[in-house]
Amino acid sequence: MIPLSDAQRVVWDAMRRLEIVAVDHREASGMVLAEDVVAGEDVPPFDNSAVDGYAVRAEDVTTAPTELQVIDTVAAGRASTKTLGAGEAMRIMTGAPIPHGATAVVMVEDSEKLGDDRVRLTATAQPGAAIREAGSDVKHGDTVFRAGSVLNAASIGVLASINAQRVHVVRRARVALLSTGDELVTDGSELAPGQIRESNLTMLDAIIRATGCDVVNLGIVSDDESELERVFTEVASDVDAFVTSGGVSMGDYDVVKAVLSKIAEMHWMQMAIKPAKPFAFGMLRAKDGRGVPVFGLPGNPVSSMISYELLARPALRMMMGHAQPERMTVRAIADVPLKRKRDGKEHFMRVVGHFGDDGRLHVRDSGPQGSHQLAATALANGVARVPDGDGLPAGADVEVFLLD
Ligand code: AMP
Ligand code: MG
Repeated sequence: MIPLSDAQRVVWDAMRRLEIVAVDHREASGMVLAEDVVAGEDVPPFDNSAVDGYAVRAEDVTTAPTELQVIDTVAAGRASTKTLGAGEAMRIMTGAPIPHGATAVVMVEDSEKLGDDRVRLTATAQPGAAIREAGSDVKHGDTVFRAGSVLNAASIGVLASINAQRVHVVRRARVALLSTGDELVTDGSELAPGQIRESNLTMLDAIIRATGCDVVNLGIVSDDESELERVFTEVASDVDAFVTSGGVSMGDYDVVKAVLSKIAEMHWMQMAIKPAKPFAFGMLRAKDGRGVPVFGLPGNPVSSMISYELLARPALRMMMGHAQPERMTVRAIADVPLKRKRDGKEHFMRVVGHFGDDGRLHVRDSGPQGSHQLAATALANGVARVPDGDGLPAGADVEVFLLD
């Protein structure tokens, strides 16, 4: 058995960043910027009202109450052609441009209508009150995002606000996904003796998408060597990576192992971790000579998920340009004993965490921890690293990485 860090080193060292492409900003959520983005426009583009109310000259409302003549109404999307004079106000809506002559806005809650064209203002206002200045969010010429930043939902909104239609980003990895196993049923039919329902492909498809990749889901490939070899070699030229589930351990029908040993440069690893001890990684040569990484995950559903998290997810994120490819790790407090037996392995226990009144993350196990028990894993929002030994008592510190 090798430590997890040795396996990760093998994988990390083989990763190459994908090319930079220009994409519509609407497609760029979760992607890594490959260029600085400089604003070509002010946001907001003009001074506008922060509230519904009355645009005034601040010098007219130094005392309250004050009565003013209402000479116009300005809605968002319109501009008044009039200029505000002494003793005058304009009714104004949130987001509407500040009229010429106005220097403050009094909100409607501080007003009483006196007929159609007069208003009593019951509050005073300083110059600039309730006015959002042009460029107060983003100024023309500002660098809004640096190369290397990850575009989140708000970033996409900012790009829209400055009219940055296309941005240069590292492209998404295109990941082929397949599972082997003649026992697996996908079509909802009644289970024959020995059959089980497929679950890994469904889970991995979702998790790879959540990683920000595009998935080419090849479904179940039968435990047949020539069929599997044909699939690998045909698909390799069309994808950036393979993720496979099952068939990488010591069984008699581990066809993934048989085929990949023949057609790719593989590392067959036994990692000193639980779950997910067996893990395969290697490079398949596509017809164009490109090396296509293959992540061979074990078939047990929890093992599949954990080895994806520990090895494949960070690697795919490296390919997509992420400077921080791994999950966020925090020191948490175990609220219950995290029991385990000494076996020479580090255990990755699925836990449910919450932040306590002490401001710290507190965790308990999410249920049974067997490598086939996906239901308890589905309840977890974190994974605790429990070092080899007799487990941790309640109250102990434990390192936890946070899931989405
Ligand atoms: P294997 O790694 O192929 O020896 O499979 C280990 C265990 O995981 C066996 O119990 C398989 O039936 C199960 N398994 C393999 N692939 C899947 C899958 N796609 N969905 C659910 N269980 C699976
Ligand atoms: Mg199998």
